[in-house]
Amino acid sequence: MKFNKIKEELKSNPKTWLVTGCAGFIGSNLIETLLKLNQKVVGLDNFSTGYQYNLDHVENSILKDQWSNFSFIKGDISDYETCLNSTKNVDIVLNQAALGSVPRSIDNPVISNNSNVTGFLNMITAAKENSVKRFVYASSSSVYGDSQELPKVETRTGNLLSPYAVTKYVNELYMDVFYKCYGFESIGLRYFNVFGKRQDPNGAYAAVMPKWISAMLNGEDVYINGDGETSRDFTYIDNVVQANIMAGVTTNTEAFAKAYNTAAGGRETLNNLFAAIKNSLEENLPELKIKDAIYRDFRAGDIRHSNANIDQAKTLLGYEPTHNLEEGLQESLAWYINDIKGSK
Ligand code: NAD
Repeated sequence: MKFNKIKEELKSNPKTWLVTGCAGFIGSNLIETLLKLNQKVVGLDNFSTGYQYNLDHVENSILKDQWSNFSFIKGDISDYETCLNSTKNVDIVLNQAALGSVPRSIDNPVISNNSNVTGFLNMITAAKENSVKRFVYASSSSVYGDSQELPKVETRTGNLLSPYAVTKYVNELYMDVFYKCYGFESIGLRYFNVFGKRQDPNGAYAAVMPKWISAMLNGEDVYINGDGETSRDFTYIDNVVQANIMAGVTTNTEAFAKAYNTAAGGRETLNNLFAAIKNSLEENLPELKIKDAIYRDFRAGDIRHSNANIDQAKTLLGYEPTHNLEEGLQESLAWYINDIKGSK
């Protein structure tokens, strides 16, 4: 079924969703869309990398009545009781809570494991115990490791290159075993470099797109790791929100216990991305003086090229990305200009 049809059905037959990591980038976009569809939403976050102001942004973007369908639990998924309490009377879990970033996991594998593996196991177990109907979770393109194959196809992964990738791979193993042992329906989404509004531009582990946009808007230096010919399948947030909702409601039994590439299916180099952001910002804000990028060493644990084959998600989930990189970039830039420039 098409996404627009699904949205109409959800509006007339609302469900209860638990979104973990709701104060983060992807989680806050998920709750915004769900609340706009008049769903009942429980959010859980420990504010380790998420922010109250993301929740405030959502509140200010939707109607009062829609916001009244939201309840928030401040808690940590590494605590099993918290997971058990938050999954009560929930239809669908969208598990986004995790510590992102490959370099963060290389710096401190133990804390990444705590949220991403222990927390994940707590969540999927609690969801099963409370008879949640569907468990959708954030996996990552990092599970492709050193595989050189392009585009990446779900069944062919390489050797893992970081503790972060290990955590996401373990999630997929648990998904498979929970289906075999308990018949528990979960679906993994292997996100490829997601970008869009509310992605954090700050901190040592910020993703490239918001970090660059923020640096350019603030007249700061922009760094490119390596020669800039590293390429990625940059995926706009709306596509990721769609994939989560499609996975959350699908009745296709073929779709369960699988991990899906969640991407736009394109590929762009860092050099071209830098040029596209710079040109677009200079067009919008002619007074802005953006310096040339500074090149530095490649980053440990990074894969060279990434590009997804998205056929499996299209066929089994009915996923149809609505935004390519350029379309997503224009929407994101408009938001960052307003947010970063507007706050000065
Ligand atoms: P984010 O850091 O903005 O959001 C993660 C949220 O989870 C934060 O609000 C954080 O406070 C919360 N959190 C972390 N550990 C927690 C815990 N133990 N208990 C409760 N809350 C906890 O990151 P994001 O980009 O929104 O990522 C969301 C998910 O998507 C993560 O699982 C991440 O690994 C995955 N992912 C993201 C990308 C991407 O490009 N952004 C790519 C691949 C996978």
